[in-house]
Amino acid sequence: MTTIILLGPPGAGKGTQAKRIAERLGIPAISTGAIFRTNMSEGTELGKQAALYIDRGEFVPDSVTNPMVKARLAAPDAQKGFLLDGYPRTLDQAHVLRDMLADLGITLNLVLEIEVDEDEVVTRMLKRAEEQHRTDDTEPVMRHRLEVYREQTMPMATYYADQDLLEVVDGSGTIDEVSERIFAVLDALPTCERKQG
Ligand code: ADP
Repeated sequence: MTTIILLGPPGAGKGTQAKRIAERLGIPAISTGAIFRTNMSEGTELGKQAALYIDRGEFVPDSVTNPMVKARLAAPDAQKGFLLDGYPRTLDQAHVLRDMLADLGITLNLVLEIEVDEDEVVTRMLKRAEEQHRTDDTEPVMRHRLEVYREQTMPMATYYADQDLLEVVDGSGTIDEVSERIFAVLDALPTCERKQG
């Protein structure tokens, strides 16, 4: 069983890399942002609640996010491991996750931080705005998301570094270059088995 958390600023390419890692290891990529967006486009109650925050670049409240993740981790496909993309995002969420995993008897194997500088992520998000029309990819909202990332999410890196779980990967360059760096880290992980075939 391989359990990984993917960290990095908005626009770092977490979603793209998450898919590749998940494919390589044969585990599901669980993206809280993607779950919210699916619910928003389907107009569910969860989606309507989430949109109030996401469209302003704020975090969706823990009372909504934590139970959603808990339910997702209980699904059958997550029993062979998982990659979390976009969760946890705050120290509070990291503590909640720690308790959830303890209850499930699951150990965390790796926290992978994709490091990209702010000018580069803004450029990438502006490009994504043209392609995907995400409601939170407007420049003022992006700037705010980066600020929130710096204040609330970055401190988590220290929390995981203290537990010897953190690996930082350079997120600059092409998608393939970043994947290669990530795969090198995965290959060095003793608990990490590649999917057969
Ligand atoms: P990005 O990495 O570009 O910020 P995501 O798809 O991960 O994009 O997240 C989009 C938005 O969804 C966030 O700005 C936030 O409003 C909400 N969101 C995602 N994950 C969480 C979380 N763990 N806690 C609270 N809100 C979240």
